[in-house]
Amino acid sequence: KLVDASATLINITSFKPLAARSRNSHKGDHGKLLCVGGNQGTSGAIRLSSEAALRTGAAMVRVYTHQSSVQVVSSGRPELMVSCDSLSAVLEWANCVIIGPGLGQDSWAQIAFEQVIQYCLANNLPLVIDADGLNLLAKHALEYRLKNCIITPHAGEASRLMKVSIAEIEANRFQSATDLAKRYTSTSVLKGAGSLIANGQQTWLCENGNPALAVGGSGDVLTGIIGALLAQGFAVDQAACYGVTLHAKAADILAEREGERGMLPSDLFAIVRQLINGK
Ligand code: AMP
Ligand code: MG
Repeated sequence: KLVDASATLINITSFKPLAARSRNSHKGDHGKLLCVGGNQGTSGAIRLSSEAALRTGAAMVRVYTHQSSVQVVSSGRPELMVSCDSLSAVLEWANCVIIGPGLGQDSWAQIAFEQVIQYCLANNLPLVIDADGLNLLAKHALEYRLKNCIITPHAGEASRLMKVSIAEIEANRFQSATDLAKRYTSTSVLKGAGSLIANGQQTWLCENGNPALAVGGSGDVLTGIIGALLAQGFAVDQAACYGVTLHAKAADILAEREGERGMLPSDLFAIVRQLINGK
């Protein structure tokens, strides 16, 4: 296993499950998360993120998606509130935003991306940027000074963000995680075997996780988990560390039980639910 003396090792025992809800709490108390993504033909990614968020305890989850994706995203999951018309209205409603899964990079995606970034920065709304959100961010060079933000690149996305090769990212994962955090004034999650979380001053290395996660859709689920934690009041570093660990530990439990091949990212939902509730 990769080690670095400056990183703090974390695993599921480093975190307490979420505190019990107060007896008279209502849905408005447990997070209003907006998930932005799901361009034409890539609706599955934002569906996975948004459903993961519900299963991680976010009480209200809205999806802003492409017109052609509305029906697919809501299909079989009526708890999701899915729309394609007024992004500004759903931004005003939200207390946290995730953007990127299935977003694409066409003009629809670029317009949504600009609007989300500007709104979140102006209102200090916590934001998770993943997938094509990161690819669009990379093209913007350093136009934005992000704050209250988590970026979740795998090595390929990190290479585009840092304008270096994937090999350089992978050969210097600890330094890369810190460089990402500093360059984008965000908490970074550098995903992969031994995911790293960094904020520029501190770095954490997650000991949980296994190759069962090496399957399409895994990262989309992680983004939803982290967004749900932010929406429920966690600060960015804690949400990133706990989210990565919940996702990885859930995969460890499933791999132990059923083997590492054939896991679906949506299989993680039920286990994540148990873990956040201390079951
Ligand atoms: P993405 O590439 O965006 O779908 O994200 C993949 C997710 O699965 C990330 O959370 C990775 O850390 C995780 N993952 C992929 N491969 C492995 C692996 N071999 N060991 C541990 N975690 C992995
Ligand atoms: Mg991904």
